[in-house]
Amino acid sequence: MCGIVAASSFQEIQDDVVAALGRVQYRGYDSFGFAWVSEQGGLASSRSTEADALQETCLPRSRTVLGHTRWATHGEVNLTNCHPHISTTGNFALVHNGIVTNFDRLLPGGSELRSDSALIVSLLEAALGNSNSRIEALQFVTAQLSGRNTLAVLFEDGEILAFRQGSPLVIGRSGEPDKKDTTDKQQGGIYLASDQLAFSATCREVCRVADGEMISIRSGQLTIFSCDLVSRSLVWIPVTEQYQVADKEGYPHFMLKEVMEQWQTVPAVLKAVDSENFAAAIHLLSQARRIVVVGAGGAYFTARQIAWLLRNEAGLDAIDVPAYEYTSFASLFSEADLMIAVSQSGETADTLQAMELAKHASLSVLSILNVPGSSMAELSDVTLQQGSGAEVCVLSTKSATAQIALGYALAMALTNKAVEARQQIQRLSHRLAAEITPELLGAIKRLAARLAEHQSVYILGRGQYHACAQIAALNIKEASYVHAEAFSAGELKHGVLALITTNVPVLVFVAEGDEFMAQVIAEVKARGAWVIGLLADDQCRAVCDEAIMLPDGGSVLGALVPGQLLAYYTAVALEQNPDRPRNLAKSITVL
Ligand code: GLU
Repeated sequence: MCGIVAASSFQEIQDDVVAALGRVQYRGYDSFGFAWVSEQGGLASSRSTEADALQETCLPRSRTVLGHTRWATHGEVNLTNCHPHISTTGNFALVHNGIVTNFDRLLPGGSELRSDSALIVSLLEAALGNSNSRIEALQFVTAQLSGRNTLAVLFEDGEILAFRQGSPLVIGRSGEPDKKDTTDKQQGGIYLASDQLAFSATCREVCRVADGEMISIRSGQLTIFSCDLVSRSLVWIPVTEQYQVADKEGYPHFMLKEVMEQWQTVPAVLKAVDSENFAAAIHLLSQARRIVVVGAGGAYFTARQIAWLLRNEAGLDAIDVPAYEYTSFASLFSEADLMIAVSQSGETADTLQAMELAKHASLSVLSILNVPGSSMAELSDVTLQQGSGAEVCVLSTKSATAQIALGYALAMALTNKAVEARQQIQRLSHRLAAEITPELLGAIKRLAARLAEHQSVYILGRGQYHACAQIAALNIKEASYVHAEAFSAGELKHGVLALITTNVPVLVFVAEGDEFMAQVIAEVKARGAWVIGLLADDQCRAVCDEAIMLPDGGSVLGALVPGQLLAYYTAVALEQNPDRPRNLAKSITVL
C-alpha cells in the first residue's frame, strides 16, 4: 500500500516533505524513511520502524527529498527492507508502491534478496550501466515488472524520475499558478505523492499522471513522458480539496471519536443527496437492468447492506460481490448493467480492478467514496461523496454508516420516498446523539472487559442484520484481535452449533418480533452459550444473559454502533491500539 512523497524546489523543502509523508502515513505504518540530496552534495538517508517517530522527524536542510511509508508485502519489517532503498554505489535512492508479482521469476538464482523493491534497485543499477539515459534504463526495468508498481527514484545530482503503474501518483506545484508548461522553472516546488491531500496545503495545482507514464524533475523542470518516451504537455487543475487536520478532540483514540461523531457524519450525506450527482445516480439505477455492488473488507459488508436495501426497499435486481471475487461473476454483467463500487479511500486496489473489468465490459459505474480526487472517482461515471471527513482509525466506522445511509437514500428515492429518507436520516442523527449515553458506553465497556477474556466470539444475524453481524465481527477482529466470526443465524444448525459449548460468547442481532431468533437464542443457550442480545425490541430481553438495545429502534445504521463500541472497548481492555491494528493499513492499494 505504501505512501510515496517527493519534492524538488529552489528553496529548502525538507519540512514540507516530512509533513506530507505524515499525511499519507495511513497507507502503511510498518516503517518510514527519507533520502535527500545533502547540502554537501551526495545522497543521505534516514529510516525508522517506529511509526510514531515520523511526527518528530527533523531532516537536515535540503531542496530535494524523497519519502516513503511502508506496508510490507515482501521482506520482513526491519530497517533493511525499509524504503528508500539505496543503490550499492550510493548514487540513487528508490521508493516503491506495489508488488512485483513476478518477483520469483526475476530473482537471479542464488540471490538472497527478500524484498521486491530491493530487486528493482538491483535491476536499475544493472540497466543504468547498459543504457544511454536514466529514463531509458528505468523504462527497461519497469517493462520487466508485472503487477501494479509505482516508483520514484532520486539521483545524487537531484534529478527525480518516477513511473506510475496501477498505484496512484499525482504531481503538484506550489508558487503562482500559470498556464505555461514543461519548460518553465518553477518559482515554488514540484511535488509527487500517492495522494494529492499530501501536499494540498502547499500546492495550488495538480497534474494527473496516467498508468505507464514517466516523470522527470530536473533543475526545476518537469517533464512527463508517455510509454514511448515522447514528452506530453501538462494539464494543471486547481487543488479543490484541502487536507483536514484530524484531531482526537479529547478522545483517547480516533476510533472512539469517529464512532461518537456519527450523529454528525450520517446527516452529512444529505449534501450528496442534494447534489446533481445524486440525480445522475438515480438515473443510472433506474436505467440499469441488474446492479452489482462491490467493495473489499468492511466496504464489502456495507456493499452487501446497500444491495440488500436496493432489493428490499426498491425492488431492484441487485446483488453484492466481494471485489476480489468479481472475476468469477463478471460474465453475468454487460452494458445494460450498473456496478456500484464502495470504498472509503477510493484507492482500494481490488475494487479498482473490479471497476476496470466492469468498464471494459461497458457497464456504467457509480461509486460511493469518502476521499475526493481518488482513482475510483476518475474511473466512475458518477460519484457520490459521502463527506464524512478524514477517517484516521484503520477501522471503517463513520464511513460505513455514511455509505449505508447513501444506499438507503438511493433506495428510498427510487420509490419516491426521498422526503421520508431525509427525515429518517435526520431522525437517526438525533437519536444517535440522544441514545449513545454514558450509561450505554459504561454497559458496553463492562461487557467488553468480559469479552476480552474469551478467545472466540460468534455473531449471528439474518436478513437486514446479516451484514451488521459481519461488520461487527470484522470490527472486533481488527481492533482487538479476538477471534470473531459472523454467521447467518440460519447456518446455526447446519454446522456452527458444533462450536457452541459452555460459556462461549454468542452475540445475536434480533429484529423486532423476530421469533426465529428467539428460537436461535434458545438453541445456543441449551448448549451453554453466554448470549448477548443486540435487540431492536424487548421481546428476547429476558432470555439473553446480557442485552443491549440497538439505537434508533434497530435501524440498519443504528445497529452498527454497539458492535463498533464493543470492538473499541475490547481493544482497550486488551491494551491494543485500535487506531492502528497490527499488519493493517487504511488504504489497500495493492492486490
Ligand atoms: N512491495 C514493497 C515492500 O514490501 C512495497 C509494498 C507496498 O507498496 O505496499 O516493501
